[in-house]
Amino acid sequence: MSAINAVVDYEMPGLISDLQTLIRQPSVSAKKQGLVECANLVTQTMRKAGINSEVLYLDDKNIPPIVYGEVRSRANPRKTILFYNHYDVQPEEPIELWKHEPFSGTVDGNFIFGRGSADDKGELITRIKAVEYFLKKTGDVPCNVKFMVEGEEEVGSVHVEEYLTKYRNRLACDGVIWEFGYVDAKDRPIISLGMKGLLYVELIARGPVRDAHSSLAVLIENPAWRLVFALSTMRDQSGKILIKDWYKEVRAFTKDELDMISKEPFDDLEFKQEYGIRRFVRKAKGRDIKKALVGMPTCNIAGLNSGYTGEGAKTVLPAQAMVKIDFRLVPEMEPEKQLKRLKRHLKLHGFSDIEIKFIHGEAAARTNIRDPFVRQVQQAARETFGSTITSVSSAGTGPMHSFAKVLKAPCISIGSTYMFARIHSPNEFARIDLLNKTTKCIGRIMEKFASQ
Ligand SMILES: [Zn+2]
Repeated sequence: MSAINAVVDYEMPGLISDLQTLIRQPSVSAKKQGLVECANLVTQTMRKAGINSEVLYLDDKNIPPIVYGEVRSRANPRKTILFYNHYDVQPEEPIELWKHEPFSGTVDGNFIFGRGSADDKGELITRIKAVEYFLKKTGDVPCNVKFMVEGEEEVGSVHVEEYLTKYRNRLACDGVIWEFGYVDAKDRPIISLGMKGLLYVELIARGPVRDAHSSLAVLIENPAWRLVFALSTMRDQSGKILIKDWYKEVRAFTKDELDMISKEPFDDLEFKQEYGIRRFVRKAKGRDIKKALVGMPTCNIAGLNSGYTGEGAKTVLPAQAMVKIDFRLVPEMEPEKQLKRLKRHLKLHGFSDIEIKFIHGEAAARTNIRDPFVRQVQQAARETFGSTITSVSSAGTGPMHSFAKVLKAPCISIGSTYMFARIHSPNEFARIDLLNKTTKCIGRIMEKFASQ
C-alpha cells in the first residue's frame, strides 16, 4: 500500500472539484481556444498542490506553452520521475449529443462528464494529487518529480520535440509516466510499453485542367483511375506493403516480447461483434492478431476523393483525384526514409506525375521489457488494482519516440481511463473509482521507483 492511500480516500472531494475547475476551462487546441488560460490554470493548480510551476515558451510566443512543474525530494534526490500530460482537449462537437454541457464537469454518481474529464485532465489530476498528498502527509516526495504538460497533443504534438530539446536539462529524468492509460472492462489497467509511429501523406493525381464531359474518356486519361492503379501497386490484398525495402529496418520481436504478447488477452468474438465484421485481414487468428496490433506496419487509405459523389448520375471526368494514406510504422522504421521509398516506388512504376504531400511523420518507440522501471510499475499496479495487463506496444501513435530520443529515459503508459470512456466523443467521462485507484497507483509507483 502507498503511504498516501488514506489521504487519497479522504481528499477525493478536493480532487473532484479541482478536476471540475480544469474541465470548465475550455482548451481546444484545434480552435486555439483557451490554451494560455488553461496553461495558467494548470500552473495555479500545481502551485496550490505545493509543486513549483511555471509556463514555458519556445521563441515563437504564438505556439501554445508547456507547463513545467518540479518538486525536489529531500529523501532521495538522485532519482527523477517525469509526468508527461496535456492540457488541450478535442473539440466538443457535436454539442447536441451531450447529455450535460460539454465543459460543465457534471458529477453523476461514479462519473464526471465533460470534454477532457478523461483525456487528459483526469489523468493529469491523478499525477498532481499524488504529489500533493505526499507533501501533505510526509512533507516530502519519495523521488524528484517533474511535470511536462503540453497544449498541442490533440493536434499531433507538433512542437514536443522542440520543447524537449530546448529544455532538455530541466526535463532530464530517469523514467517517464505517459499521459494516459486504459483500464479494461474487468478493471485491469493496461500497462503499455510503446507506441507505433506514423507516416501520413496525401497523393494527388491530376488530369485535365477542369472537369470534362465523360464522353471524352476515350481521349483524356482519368486521374481517378490513375490513382487507383498507383494504389494497387502499393499493397496486396493480404495487407502486405509492396514498396521496395519497406520492411528493411523492421526489428523482429524478441523472445520476451513474444512471451508478453502471448499473455495479452484478446477477445476475437467481442471485437468482431463490436465492428460488425466477419473476419480479420489475412484471416488472422490467435496470437497473430495480437502480433499484428503490436508490431505490424500498415498502409491504410484514410480518405479517397474524386469526381461526382452526390445523388444520381453525373457523367463527368474529374480533373483531380486525391487520397490520404496513413502508414503505421514500427521500430526501427524512420518516417523520412519511408517517404523516400514511397517516392521512388511511384517513380519506378511510372507514376512520377502523382504529387506526394507530406503531412506528418513520427517514429515508433518501445521501452525495453527488461528495464527495471517496467517491473516497478507492474508491481505498483498489481498491488493497487489486483490483476494487470502489460502490452508491448499500443497500436496507436504518440510522440514517445521524441522522449526516448531526447531524454533517453524509459516511457511507460498507465492511467485511469476506462476503455469505453468515450474520449474524443460526446459524453466523455471519467470514473471516480478509477481516479481514486490511479492516484494511489501513481503514489505507489513513485515509492517503488525511489526504493529500487
Ligand atoms: Zn486525446
